[in-house]
Amino acid sequence: MDKEVKLMEKDVFCRIVNGEIPCYKLYEDDDVLAFLDISQVTKGHALVISKKHYDNFLSTPKEIMHKVMDVAQRIGQVEISLMGAKGVNILSNCYEEAGQSVIHFHVHVIPRYGKKEGISIEMKDNSEGLNLPMIASEIHNRL
Ligand code: 5GP
Repeated sequence: MDKEVKLMEKDVFCRIVNGEIPCYKLYEDDDVLAFLDISQVTKGHALVISKKHYDNFLSTPKEIMHKVMDVAQRIGQVEISLMGAKGVNILSNCYEEAGQSVIHFHVHVIPRYGKKEGISIEMKDNSEGLNLPMIASEIHNRL
């Protein structure tokens, strides 16, 4: 058995795609699957994944990434227009350092109904002392 097949066996989302683990399905086509996150951080918390295994957003081919984002956008729109959500967080954790626990590309769609919910993404201002022009050119020059 090759390394890739072994990896896929361990990955819970590959097992959902293969029908080995049940899910509450929201959408499916040849490349994309969307279903409710088991943890439901807020009501309607959805996951949109590539059916084929890629480790995360950064390592997914553009065409597939775009298809996943398209479905995430549609789910977010439905949650705003029909489910009473007042906002939506679209989130894709890449690597453990960023909170990724399932190593299979996925996008969270997390509807927001009010301020006190089971999610907090705090973005503190830590810009003091940083050389912003240098940081900007470091990134800009590599794009
Ligand atoms: P991450 O932390 O990798 O960004 O998010 C992984 C998400 O997958 C978590 O929110 C977790 O609740 C969800 N999850 C893990 N195992 C399962 C499962 O078996 N079924 C479903 N529907 N969601 C899962």
